[in-house]
Amino acid sequence: MRVYSTLSRRKEELPPPPGPIGMYFCGPTVYQRIHVGNAFAVSVLPLWLKRWLKLHGYETTVVVNITDINDKIYDAAPGASARLADDATRWYYEDTDRLGLGRPDIEPTAAETVPDQIAMIEELIAGGFAYRVDGDVYFRVSRFPDYGRLSGQRLDKVAEQEPNPLKEDARDFALWKANKPGEDTWWDSPWGKGRPGWHIECSAMSEKHLGPSFEIHGGGLDLVFPHHENEIAQSRSLGHEYARIWMHNGMLSMGGEEMHKSVGNDVSLRDALDRWGRETLLVFFMTGHWRKPLDFSDETMGAAVARADGFREVFRSPSTPAPTGAWERLAAALDDDFNTPDALAVMHEWRDHDLLRRGLDIFGLAALAEQEEAPAEIVQLAERRRDARAARAFEEADVLRAELEAAGWEARDVAGGFQLVRKR
Ligand SMILES: [Zn+2]
Repeated sequence: MRVYSTLSRRKEELPPPPGPIGMYFCGPTVYQRIHVGNAFAVSVLPLWLKRWLKLHGYETTVVVNITDINDKIYDAAPGASARLADDATRWYYEDTDRLGLGRPDIEPTAAETVPDQIAMIEELIAGGFAYRVDGDVYFRVSRFPDYGRLSGQRLDKVAEQEPNPLKEDARDFALWKANKPGEDTWWDSPWGKGRPGWHIECSAMSEKHLGPSFEIHGGGLDLVFPHHENEIAQSRSLGHEYARIWMHNGMLSMGGEEMHKSVGNDVSLRDALDRWGRETLLVFFMTGHWRKPLDFSDETMGAAVARADGFREVFRSPSTPAPTGAWERLAAALDDDFNTPDALAVMHEWRDHDLLRRGLDIFGLAALAEQEEAPAEIVQLAERRRDARAARAFEEADVLRAELEAAGWEARDVAGGFQLVRKR
């Protein structure tokens, strides 16, 4: 299997099974309900990959962290950030559980990993890669010649991050920040009370659970710079290989505009699931290649509804064996950079129930094979309609059909009786 890596700018081959394949994805910052685009990055793509790699016989470990220490959380709930982080962590579990794809193997929090982060910062200071400024600690960007390689910037063109006139160099970024008024969480450290910077969290959490070198690091394209550039600088300065392949997924947009809380066009995963249901949402995510932007709109979601119904329809008709090599075509699409739009096109041709169920199950969509059973009162209505038709009372039959439709069901006349189909 091959996947595209932002670092090498080409598709990289995975080692042969069983691997192991360690995968780390930057998880949510917990200060609000997760939005639907972020959910794809942290709760869909990682778990799809895990399911597919398992079918190949790989041993996989998926780590998705929870960022529960961050400026965004302090800003959203001054003086009460810990409470907000707790609540939003619970919302995150509730909402992403509804996707039905299982959970990552390990979900560490930044707060529980603070001792590991402090140890890493101490090592960076000892190696001359970091320095103190009062109660802060900064990474010395000039000491890492490869800085800018991931994001494709020249070292001398890197813009200032985290302004502080006392820094040696405008490009240097914070590893540790002294406690400020209004910040209700802090930890003791060799540099005084404070809290870790955002980037050191991920270096420490990924290495703690996957070791100093692992296969895949992922996240949204918006994390390439500075977040992932800084993670690489921290870990590789210490002589660790760190992640070999860097997967960055495209961003979700709405009517062509990127989905962001700051733009005010973000849709929460909860609202998307309430309105469209998990199957439609997962089919929608499959319609885009993971590296490309994807537009979330009534139109594109409507198309996903039709696709999901198309799959359900296959299971209402008799199974027809697929030609030989059908599964191999699906595998070829997924093994070449996990091309889900191609996989979707291949599966839409299938009328073989067992094969299609197996294919859909990779994406958590096996439920599309199950017919929803009609409740007793719906069956009764359909029986009365059948009897009315048999008695040539067509007007009454039409009234009953309308009643069924209003309840969200269609009675189809088939040989020997009727078939009840749920309409969405
Ligand atoms: Zn991260």
